[in-house]
Amino acid sequence: MKFEFKIIHTDNNARVCEMIIGSKRIETPIFLPVATKGCVKLITWQELKEIGYNATITNALILYFKPGLDVIEKFKSIHEFFGFDGVIFTDSGGFQMIRAGFLERIHEDYAVFRSPFDNSRHKITPEFIVEIQKRLKSDIFMPLDICPRYDMNYNRIKEATIRTVKWAKKCKKILDGNVMFGIIQGGVFLDLRKYCTKELLDLDFHGYAIGGLSVGEPKDLMYKVLKFNVKLLPEEKPRYFMGLGSIEDIFKCISLGIDIFDSSFPTRNARHDTVYTSSGKIIINRAKYKYDRRPLDESCSCFTCRNYTRAYLHHLSKVNEFLYKRLLTIHNLYFIKKILDEIKKAIKQNYFEEMLKENLKTKN
Ligand SMILES: [Zn+2]
Repeated sequence: MKFEFKIIHTDNNARVCEMIIGSKRIETPIFLPVATKGCVKLITWQELKEIGYNATITNALILYFKPGLDVIEKFKSIHEFFGFDGVIFTDSGGFQMIRAGFLERIHEDYAVFRSPFDNSRHKITPEFIVEIQKRLKSDIFMPLDICPRYDMNYNRIKEATIRTVKWAKKCKKILDGNVMFGIIQGGVFLDLRKYCTKELLDLDFHGYAIGGLSVGEPKDLMYKVLKFNVKLLPEEKPRYFMGLGSIEDIFKCISLGIDIFDSSFPTRNARHDTVYTSSGKIIINRAKYKYDRRPLDESCSCFTCRNYTRAYLHHLSKVNEFLYKRLLTIHNLYFIKKILDEIKKAIKQNYFEEMLKENLKTKN
């Protein structure tokens, strides 16, 4: 698979880059809406494309559990099965290790998972995760990593990091021309981050993801580790911060040189009545919006803001009509896309730092 990554413009550490994967092109900084089970919750792939999203991340392990590879292999690729022709990243199951109910045990050369759908047991090797992704024919593969919980002690995180490196080597060996990003682990320990980064750089992945942060550690500590880790990465490769999606964090991470983000935060927030606006977050089921004739955001031109008032959305939330969750999801995803477009413009015209300072004043 053809893969190219080119820096188009920089403003201090922030950068706009072009990434070409096969015949597809994306511009970074980019936010990937999360489609863990095969869709971005409550929104169609066509709606996502209309908003302007041409990339997503789904989960190879979950799709292996259900619908199963036999179903997806009836189609040309995961793209045809989904009905989405954009760039599809496939995560590996490493993150599922810290979610309750998924992981049974980690061994030296494999992990045992329980399917969340029928509780069946599955022995998953790093090689098998690559095999799944080959059969899905996704655009960007991720290796099976071990994402340790934040509260584990140094020795356990060290062991997980060493194993992550060992597994990454196994995955890289059988890649057969596919594109894969290495996932850097190491918890909040700088020596482990340094070790893992160096080992993965030696393997020469197409890009690098920073994993194992934003998993419950204090924000100050997360930024300290992130800053340290980003500095160890080469300029000429894409940098992906996995699992971070508040607008404030996106701004801060872009200022440190991160190119790619994913998070279920904007869609989950929408399902819990919370929307982003230019003057900060609002919670639509609060009484003060009962008579409010304004759209969610007066400067937003998404489908929801063009057609519906806060009062109507407030009403739907009060009577628990699910339509409002869909309408709020459309708005939040549109809002994030618009911000990223504005950020790219600011970087290209060298006023990103001013924009960053201004944005940190609002409470999104
Ligand atoms: Zn809107």
